[in-house]
Amino acid sequence: LPALAVIDETLLSAILDGDRKSIARAISVIEKGGPEAVGLLQAIYGHTGTAHRVGITGPPGSGKSTLINQLVAHFRENGKSVAVMAIDPTSPYSQGALLGDRIRMTRAGEDAGVFIRSMASRGAHGGLSDATHDAADILDAAGFDVILIETTGVGQVELDIASMVDSVMILVVPESGDSVQAMKAGLMEIADFFVLNKCDRPGSDSAFAAMQSVLDLRPPPRDEWRPGIFRTSATEGQGTAELAAKVPEHRSHLVATGRLQQRREQRLRSHVTKIVEKLIVSELWDEASTAHLDLSLRPVLDGELSPYDLARLIVSKHRRREF
Ligand code: GDP
Repeated sequence: LPALAVIDETLLSAILDGDRKSIARAISVIEKGGPEAVGLLQAIYGHTGTAHRVGITGPPGSGKSTLINQLVAHFRENGKSVAVMAIDPTSPYSQGALLGDRIRMTRAGEDAGVFIRSMASRGAHGGLSDATHDAADILDAAGFDVILIETTGVGQVELDIASMVDSVMILVVPESGDSVQAMKAGLMEIADFFVLNKCDRPGSDSAFAAMQSVLDLRPPPRDEWRPGIFRTSATEGQGTAELAAKVPEHRSHLVATGRLQQRREQRLRSHVTKIVEKLIVSELWDEASTAHLDLSLRPVLDGELSPYDLARLIVSKHRRREF
């Protein structure tokens, strides 16, 4: 296994003190990866576990950044510090950066209790990368009460976010016409909050009624959280205070029912699994095994050996420490 990295004690204590520049630097270290990132994550882990991690997802343009701006303001009014991470799975130049700029232009941008960061990161299989989880650990250790993780709702990413946070908020808009569809497509299972945003627009009453009827079809869960549908107008600040007030309620519910512990266990399990896979892969591909692969391609090209045969050969050589 890779040796433990030397830990930058100065950086570590600055992060724990909530120093924003150091937090930003730490997240850059994590985005880069490598032994420095591993060392940092090992060192901060013991200081994590107090933040409430909330995922906010929805289609592009549904008002996520506008809503987050409102939520941040409400949390601040209630004395909570907030970190926002905007994960942009497509481009380093779109929403994430915009979100940062937009919030920075407001009062929240000058507030020491608010930290905003966008990450253009995408996992190897099209899902959210481990860097998202790791960056959230940094923010948690830095002492933020709430960590909002914003993702654009595209396919796998929506489902991935559920495995990284304590609470999931799903945004839909009346005019998308697929507000009900969103509730059917597996999101019902992961949503703790449905937010029908842009309720100042026409069609919101019928969209709300349609969503409500889908929700009503679900048998009432005992002891479980019933995801409500919140009607908001993020631009006008309508309904956002009510939504913000419900967020800590969800956390209390998770704590009281033992579900927070369960969710964290699941999260850790998948996180450790991914780390193990990464370690094995990095351990396997050294100079010798790469050379072996290059030298053994001929019979595969000539059709004498299948790629699967060669792969198994490489793995078994690795197991027998023949490299
Ligand atoms: P995001 O892509 O999901 O982050 O969406 P944005 O927050 O960037 O919002 C997209 C556009 O919708 C912007 O022009 C916002 O001003 C607008 N918008 C956001 N929320 C509302 C709302 O509640 N009502 C109306 N009418 N427009 C909104």
